[in-house]
Amino acid sequence: MEQTFIILKPSTIQRGLVGQVIDRFQKKGLFIAGIKMMRLDEKILREHYSHLVDRPFFPDLLKSMMATPVIVMCLRGKDAVEVVRSMTGATNCRKAASGTIRGDFGMSGQENIIHASDSVDNAIIEINRFFRPEEIFDYSPLTISATYSPDEID
Ligand code: UDP
Ligand code: MG
Repeated sequence: MEQTFIILKPSTIQRGLVGQVIDRFQKKGLFIAGIKMMRLDEKILREHYSHLVDRPFFPDLLKSMMATPVIVMCLRGKDAVEVVRSMTGATNCRKAASGTIRGDFGMSGQENIIHASDSVDNAIIEINRFFRPEEIFDYSPLTISATYSPDEID
């Protein structure tokens, strides 16, 4: 099944929203394939946000992402990348639709609760960037047959 990559950003740790954000993914039916706390450094952030390194806000983004450790997650599910992006909402929390994570939990464009991979190709790259292979677990949750029809399970 497809996998996607999430970061619970430092502001989410600071604001005590970790449980509520993870709860949404679990209630939706996504399975946790990997989860850990880690401190991000400038090197990994320059790779992860390489599309933004020349933007004027990049120094502030770096500082924000290094403010505390983060929680990184690999979530598994059918069409997981698209499902999680749509649960995440627009980049700016003030513009994100109510019902999305950013729309419900934030007020900022930068401090926008989570990162979520934006394509299947990037999800693979990001999972490999932040996790070692042995940190991603392949198991079949007991709830899988109640979560999907047989033809939806790979
Ligand atoms: N960001 C920002 N100002 C901007 C655009 C982006 O501070 O004008 C930050 C924000 O934290 C965002 C991250 O940079 O989540 C990555 O930007 P991207 O365009 O990839 O947005 P995302 O994929 O996170 O919605
Ligand atoms: Mg992005």
